[in-house]
Amino acid sequence: QKEAKLLYAQPVIEKQVEVLKDECKSLKSKGITPCLKVILVGNNPGSVIYTNSKKKFAEKIGASCEIINLDESTGEEEFLKVVNEFNNDDLVHGILIQLPLPKSLSQIDTTDLVVPHKDVDGFHYENVAKLYRGQLGETSMIPCTPKGIVTMAKYYGIDFAGKNVVIVGRSLIVGKPLSLLLSNLNATVTLAHSKTQNLKDLTKTADIIVTAIGSPKLFTKEYFRDDNSQIIFDVGINRSEDGKLCGDCDFANIKDQVAAITPVPKGVGPMTIFSVSQNLISAAKK
Ligand code: NDP
Repeated sequence: QKEAKLLYAQPVIEKQVEVLKDECKSLKSKGITPCLKVILVGNNPGSVIYTNSKKKFAEKIGASCEIINLDESTGEEEFLKVVNEFNNDDLVHGILIQLPLPKSLSQIDTTDLVVPHKDVDGFHYENVAKLYRGQLGETSMIPCTPKGIVTMAKYYGIDFAGKNVVIVGRSLIVGKPLSLLLSNLNATVTLAHSKTQNLKDLTKTADIIVTAIGSPKLFTKEYFRDDNSQIIFDVGINRSEDGKLCGDCDFANIKDQVAAITPVPKGVGPMTIFSVSQNLISAAKK
């Protein structure tokens, strides 16, 4: 048995960041400074960390990024006013609404609030429709985690064409858009979820497995073949009992039987942050 190859985000980002820096520089030389507005309501600790990471990375490539931290008690009218102000401001190229929103705003469906060309999350139905139809170009707004997984796979020479891919989790931000993206890339995709039966048998048949369910260390040895041939993208970000971050996969338990796996942290997570800046540059180019 061999130890799995670890698919870290850092070398991928190190290589790609120069491209983004150059693109940002070139936009600036034309008088366009890519500008991202991140709307954060309240102070959910996870959200504060994510928004800060997105800002830090956007600034690293030379873009401008402001976090608009609205009070926990912000009402619907005020919240929508802020979003629309940015929607109508030509100097703003990208807008992110950090989720989850606090209770006071939980009745709002945010998916279509940001105009499609500034929708760096890729959630707007117009952007989703393009993904659905496979009408993707260089500057398409593709949801950040699926996009990050594809960027990472490319770097590590992982080709999806003709592969059996099992994605576990069908959320609108990870599983579902990833299933479309990989299907466009000629993978044979199975999208599994909480009602899927015999999940262990299914994951065992896959060439590539993506776990995105939010359940700490659920995927143990029994879910995978024992022949060092399967590749795993672990999207989950969870706290384990010892308080440490962990994925949906029981990393220590399976690392000797799969071919490659993304660690948590330092795997898929940073790729998501990277994709935000990539989408921002695409938005500014438009
Ligand atoms: P959601 O809670 O929106 O969706 C979870 C999905 O997993 C659902 O489709 C659900 O099925 C399915 N599911 C839940 N339990 C099981 C189970 N036991 N067996 C099979 N399927 C199951 O989650 P998100 O997509 O938002 O996030 C998933 C995880 O990824 C979380 O840990 C989150 O923190 C992390 N995440 C990481 C990111 C990164 O950059 N690395 C980015 C975004 C999220 P059903 O539809 O039937 O309910």
